[in-house]
Amino acid sequence: MAATGLVARFTLEVFVLEIVRAMELITILNHCHHHRGFVYQQDRFDPDKKFIEVVVRPREGSAAICSGCQQPAPGYDHLPERRFEFIPFWGILVFFLYRMRRVHCRNCGIVVEEVPWGDGKHQLTRAYMLFLARWARKLSWKETAEAFHTSWDQVCDAVEYVVHWGLEHRTLEPIRAIGVDEIQYAKGHKYLTLVYQIDQGLTRLLWVGKERTIESFQGFFTVIGDQLASQIEFVCSDMWQPYLAVIRQKCSQALHILDRFHIVAKMNKALDEVRAAESRKMAQEGHEPLLKKSRWCVLKRKENLTSQQKFRLRDLLRYNLQTVRAYLLKEDFQQFWEYNSPTWAGMFLDFWCYQTMRSRIEPMKKIARTLRAHRALMLNYFKARKQFSSGVVEGLNNKAKVTMRRSYGFRTFRILELALYHSLGKLPEPELTHEFF
Ligand SMILES: [Zn+2]
Repeated sequence: MAATGLVARFTLEVFVLEIVRAMELITILNHCHHHRGFVYQQDRFDPDKKFIEVVVRPREGSAAICSGCQQPAPGYDHLPERRFEFIPFWGILVFFLYRMRRVHCRNCGIVVEEVPWGDGKHQLTRAYMLFLARWARKLSWKETAEAFHTSWDQVCDAVEYVVHWGLEHRTLEPIRAIGVDEIQYAKGHKYLTLVYQIDQGLTRLLWVGKERTIESFQGFFTVIGDQLASQIEFVCSDMWQPYLAVIRQKCSQALHILDRFHIVAKMNKALDEVRAAESRKMAQEGHEPLLKKSRWCVLKRKENLTSQQKFRLRDLLRYNLQTVRAYLLKEDFQQFWEYNSPTWAGMFLDFWCYQTMRSRIEPMKKIARTLRAHRALMLNYFKARKQFSSGVVEGLNNKAKVTMRRSYGFRTFRILELALYHSLGKLPEPELTHEFF
């Protein structure tokens, strides 16, 4: 078997070699990766036929470009030959060999020249970095590295290059609506602050901040500047105090809407506390385990229950339990979102809080107190005519979680930041004259 494999591999290499000879790799390169001022001079297989090297030379009589000011400048000397990795094909790696010139620039002094296919920092050519970065959006970084026989670090480098280019070249304005949310990225309460644009025609990740503090959220406003911040009309957030404080300070003109998803989540959490405590208490007192396996019956929306869960819920509702009363309060609150007028919604909210405060169920009372304290923000949801419901933010946050899982690698802030901008930032990409797919 091994021998057959070897023969097959050998035959394929000879075949590729023949094709490359017949088509002439340089002709292909001139067609799809041509740069004025430079010529592909010769190509050759390495002795093991694992890779092809293509020698690149400056075109006769064309001046080098200064990498400091992008102006032509007289040559100074040559640096030792460097290898730039190009997009591999048919399992064969391709390298450009080039001796970078240094120029004597009137403005910048003696600096290395600028070459159109790459830069001083990366071993990979721009085309290859863009190619890898595109795949890294579809596959995990690890899978991308495996697919193209390169390393995870090279993929990370490629993504970093594309993201930095995109951040430098993106257009921010106009931003009409933003949503801010936090996401946990490591054990031990490590959070990121994510700011999304949630305009109707454009949703994208605008900013990633470390931690979820006043300072981290303020970082976003530093990036966009006061002018843009003053044009934001809607801000959607949860009830996290530092966010509320920054929004008051930086976006006082905007209508601030509390995120519906977070309010529902808070209520579910309170209900779950009630259920767990009551269930424990009943067990301690030796009662029938009425609340066993009741968790999803009370937490899920009624329409999402399985028929068995529905049956179980109906059974449960017959008892005068705290859990049941808390459940009914939670279900009752769903009506709040269906109002159109802020006035009526406000009256409903007041009545619901009044009832809940008399329920003697502490976790629910806590919710009522919170809602009362944020009454004005709650009602902004209706003033915005529900056009920026939190569904958008929640959807984006779910995508962010998927991205975090896929980038694996190291859970450092820098890597996550790159991965998130890359998949959710809708950043512009450097353009190539040819699409390599
Ligand atoms: Zn210069």
